[in-house]
Amino acid sequence: MIDHRRLGRDLELFVSDPLAGAGLPIWLPAGAAARHAVEEYVRELERRAGYRHVYSPPLGKRELFELSGHLGYFADDMFPPMRLSADDEFVLRPALCPHHALVFRARGRSYRELPLRVAEIGGMYRAERSGVLGGLSRVRAISLNDAHNFCALEQVGDEVREILRLIREAHAALGVRPAGFRLSLRGPGEKYVGDDADWARAEELLRAALDGVDYHEGPGEAAFYGPKIDIQIVDAAGRESTISTIQLDFDKPERFDLSYTDADGRRKRPVMVHRSLVGSMERLFAYLIEVHAGAFPAWYAPVQLVLLPVDDGQADAAVELAGRAEAAGLRAEVDLAGSLGSRIRDAARRRVPYLGVIGPREAAEGAVSLRLRDGRGLDPMPVADALALVAGVVAARSADLLPPA
Ligand SMILES: [Zn+2]
Repeated sequence: MIDHRRLGRDLELFVSDPLAGAGLPIWLPAGAAARHAVEEYVRELERRAGYRHVYSPPLGKRELFELSGHLGYFADDMFPPMRLSADDEFVLRPALCPHHALVFRARGRSYRELPLRVAEIGGMYRAERSGVLGGLSRVRAISLNDAHNFCALEQVGDEVREILRLIREAHAALGVRPAGFRLSLRGPGEKYVGDDADWARAEELLRAALDGVDYHEGPGEAAFYGPKIDIQIVDAAGRESTISTIQLDFDKPERFDLSYTDADGRRKRPVMVHRSLVGSMERLFAYLIEVHAGAFPAWYAPVQLVLLPVDDGQADAAVELAGRAEAAGLRAEVDLAGSLGSRIRDAARRRVPYLGVIGPREAAEGAVSLRLRDGRGLDPMPVADALALVAGVVAARSADLLPPA
């Protein structure tokens, strides 16, 4: 069975060292290169959709998390507070929402600024029991692709539709295959905050945004602070988890006393929409490693092109081509050690999408023979054409290794 922990070790993507601590994996250069490409993509996608990115620290004063309710509701999942002095205690945050509420509150807000979309790929911590930890799928230090969209209630429908569009786009580029959509609604009981009319309206807006999507409803599965949409994936072992989420929140705007000035000059409370397009980088990569069996699409492959001179006579040509590939923004390497056959097998083992073989004839003609990871081989072509081909597939974030015919 495919297991991301074994592949992660074989492909040198990440390492879990008991000295660093369980659930605290270290991303090695290959894994970090892939993650960096994915993070850049996500930020670009969000930036084009009107998000504003921020940085906020992964720890904060105890009072911040008392105000947010996290210490009241989630203390069991949090690391114990760190005391600097009798009246100065800090906690590792279990979520980014409190800091993003402070971004909204940093100055007065007008209805003209809404929806205000505050985004960050940020660190947070969960005190998971050591027995449940494994590889990247359950960790204690989490890097979440997160955003909080502050909007007027009547904007929620359009906002959620747009978030669903971004989720679909990100899933298509990354190769995520969702197993199902779930709409979690209020059930009977008193645990829910916010007024009945707002809940009914919000549930109706979420239902409308899901029009045309195959989903199921989960009455009683909503958070106490609002209804939500979760998008599920199933890993190689058949375990289901949430990869993308859209959660409406009537509670935190109240707790943080968030408001904006409406067109009529009156103060109004915004709705806060917590959303993640692709979840945490850790769980996302646990899934991507398995779903692609380590053979990532070229745009986030750790090494995109390995150049293989047939013998030492073409080493200079290979080094020069690698330099041109790097100047074009590609991740390229030259492999000189060992027989050509063993180098080809090693690149295949590492799932490198493109091999560039340079023999005496190619070197003399300024050409290279591309071989694809899936076994297809192309006729020798000028190095400029080969670079353009690879760079074009990478720029298009295509799943196929050849451009459309
Ligand atoms: Zn949140």
